[in-house]
Amino acid sequence: MTDDLCPREAEVLRAGESGEWTPELKAHLVTCAACREVQAVTQVLRAAVDDEPASVGAPAEDIWWRAQWQARQEMRASAMRPLDTLERAEPLVALVAAATLLVLRGDAMASRLVAWATSDAAGQAMQALMPPALLPVLMLGALLGGLVLLVGLGAVVAND
Ligand SMILES: [Zn+2]
Repeated sequence: MTDDLCPREAEVLRAGESGEWTPELKAHLVTCAACREVQAVTQVLRAAVDDEPASVGAPAEDIWWRAQWQARQEMRASAMRPLDTLERAEPLVALVAAATLLVLRGDAMASRLVAWATSDAAGQAMQALMPPALLPVLMLGALLGGLVLLVGLGAVVAND
C-alpha cells in the first residue's frame, strides 16, 4: 500500500463504483499509484457486490427450506404430543389398573389362579415342587410381567 495520498482518490472511487471513467481520469490513473490502488480496491469490492446475489441466493433458499422443514417438524411434534403423552402414560395406566384390580379382586384372582394352576398337570407338578403359599405370588408376578410386556409391545407397535 502506498502512503502517498492523492486528491483525486475520491473521484477514482466514485468512477470505480459507477464504472464511468472519463478519459482524463484514466490518464491520471496511469500516472498515479495511489489512485491505481484505490481503483484496484473498488474493482474487488464491485466484483464482490456483483457476485452477492448469486452467492447469497443459495443460502437464502437453504434458510427458507430449513425454516420450512423446521416448521413441519414442529407441527408434527405438536400433533404427536398428545399421542406421545398417551404412550408414555400407557404402562403407568396398565400398572395402576393391574394394581387396582389386585387390591379389589386380589383374593378372588389368586384363588382362581391357584384353581387354574392346580387344574392341569403342569400346575400340579408346580404345586408339588413349591409351597402352595408361594404359588399365587408367583402367578401374580407372571401376570404383571405379562401385562408390562404386552404394554411395551403395544408401545413399540404404536411407534411404527
Ligand atoms: Zn491520483
